Amino acid sequence: AKRGGKAPLAKEEKRKLTKENLQRLAGAFRFMLPYKGLFILGLIALALSSLLLLAFPRLSGELLDVATGKGKYFGNINHVVVALLGILLVQSVFSFVRVYTFAIVSERGMADLRKAVYEKVVWLPMSFFDSRRVGELMSRITADVGTLQETFTTSLAELLRQVLTLLFGIGIIFYLAPSLAGFMLLTFPVLVIAALIFGKYIRKLSKKTQDKLADANVVVEESLQSIFIVKAFTNELFEINRYGRALKEVVSVAIQSARYRGIFISFIVFALFGGIVAVGWYGATLVQSGALSVGELFAFVFYTSFIGFSIAGLGEIFTQVQRSIGASERVLEILYHQDEAEPEAGKLNLNGAISFENVSFAYPSRKDYQVLEDLNFTISAGEKVALVGQSGSGKSTIINLLMRFYQIQQGMIRVDGQDVNDFNLTAYRHNLGVVPQEVILFGGSIRENIRYGRPDATDEQVREAARKANALEFIEGFPEQFETLVGERGVKLSGGQRQRIAIARAILKDPVILILDEATSSLDAHSEVLVQEALEKLMEGRTTIIIAHRLSTIKKVDRIFVIQQGKLAEMGSHAELTRLNNGIYSNLLKLQLQ
Ligand code: ADP
Repeated sequence: AKRGGKAPLAKEEKRKLTKENLQRLAGAFRFMLPYKGLFILGLIALALSSLLLLAFPRLSGELLDVATGKGKYFGNINHVVVALLGILLVQSVFSFVRVYTFAIVSERGMADLRKAVYEKVVWLPMSFFDSRRVGELMSRITADVGTLQETFTTSLAELLRQVLTLLFGIGIIFYLAPSLAGFMLLTFPVLVIAALIFGKYIRKLSKKTQDKLADANVVVEESLQSIFIVKAFTNELFEINRYGRALKEVVSVAIQSARYRGIFISFIVFALFGGIVAVGWYGATLVQSGALSVGELFAFVFYTSFIGFSIAGLGEIFTQVQRSIGASERVLEILYHQDEAEPEAGKLNLNGAISFENVSFAYPSRKDYQVLEDLNFTISAGEKVALVGQSGSGKSTIINLLMRFYQIQQGMIRVDGQDVNDFNLTAYRHNLGVVPQEVILFGGSIRENIRYGRPDATDEQVREAARKANALEFIEGFPEQFETLVGERGVKLSGGQRQRIAIARAILKDPVILILDEATSSLDAHSEVLVQEALEKLMEGRTTIIIAHRLSTIKKVDRIFVIQQGKLAEMGSHAELTRLNNGIYSNLLKLQLQ
């Protein structure tokens, strides 16, 4: 709950087709390149099947003409049917090749892209995660990549098919009946202009409807997320009314948009069918005068519907491409984001002496708020230190900086006398171990969870770590022992058991610097003893920093740092600090003892 303002969840939005945007889209296309051979094969199959389908209307018309004794190319109905079936057969082979190759290219390319984005995200610095929600990142990896892939395969293929159909279709109708084709194309501009004008209005209104709907959804989300507040303040009716008002606005905009849509649709239907009547009339006169056969008129109408569908299809592709520009922007933002860690680690063996020198720091997501100011302290190798102070005073921040989760703005943090920024990040973090306040277990077995501390540890080493962590007894109490599944779908471990797993993890990692974030809630007496014992063993020979919440547990540390509003207010052993009259620590102690 400490996080600052979050970027809103990414919405699917459409973008203009500027040159820059298209270039950006092409940038994401490089993930298809490894499969270009298959992709081109698919495109060829697609082109051939589209062209073959174009013979269909003409041959169907020929069927009619042969039947009425006016066939141009065939003398027998059966021959026409055989030709039609032959074309269909070849066409379906091409269709199979197209569908299959595109699926392979699409699935492989999508997996590559997902992996690349995920890989990038995992390496990004903590500050990146402060300003983004997990849900948003998820949607980039899943939905956005899906949108892109669809554009690169389906839309690109559709574009080719529709353009081919459109150009050849128009060519064929002009060949069949030039005057009729010219006559038909005259009705076309009317439709296009109407579509453009109305389309703009309708889009504007439907965007407005969506925005209003999003506003209304926020009301539901907010109130349900904190339903206990709503109920505690008995504000149920207030919230219901708020939602009602928001919905009313949705309805009023939606109805306005429906009015325009209604007018538009009825106009289009009228114009379309009016056009058909006009073409029918003109075509019929041509048939009457013998300039056109019935079969040719039939073929002509058939082609016209092909052309109509192509135009509609092109519109859809246009929308899809606009949508995927937004998706490509979000995906590429991650792909081109600066890396934090150098993955290949190398070895770094530190002794664990730490010093903070004039460290000042503000979180990147809250630049105007100085969390640490001019902080100075040194911890010698092997020393045990406890950080004490009110919540929000900056204890976790000190740890975050030591872990190099964030970059300090001023001063220097040294380990073994060296600026920590000089170390390879991964090698450096190998020297630090954390037992967090809230132990997170991943879905999997207990063994896998302990081994998270060192992936190459043997089963024997895992067992030994569990033993040292006082965890062996309870683990072997489960029927499945180390194979027992934990995490969301596995057994539920108690707080004390989880902590001992975390301790075992840390034992395996064997860090020179240990960070203990003490659990705020206390355990039952028996677990407490087991955990304390395990922790003490773990701390042996390591520089240790404890974020202490319960003062009773820190009496044994060498020194206590009292942090107040990002500054070191008091420092000394338990005995020294309790001797201070009216000291912060002695007051805290009194408070806790009460
Ligand atoms: P403590 O650990 O002593 O409770 P923290 O170091 O967590 O205190 O917090 C110190 C201050 O920094 C608090 O005001 C907190 O709101 C703020 N803070 C902590 N984490 C972040 C973050 N990721 N982004 C912005 N502000 C943060």
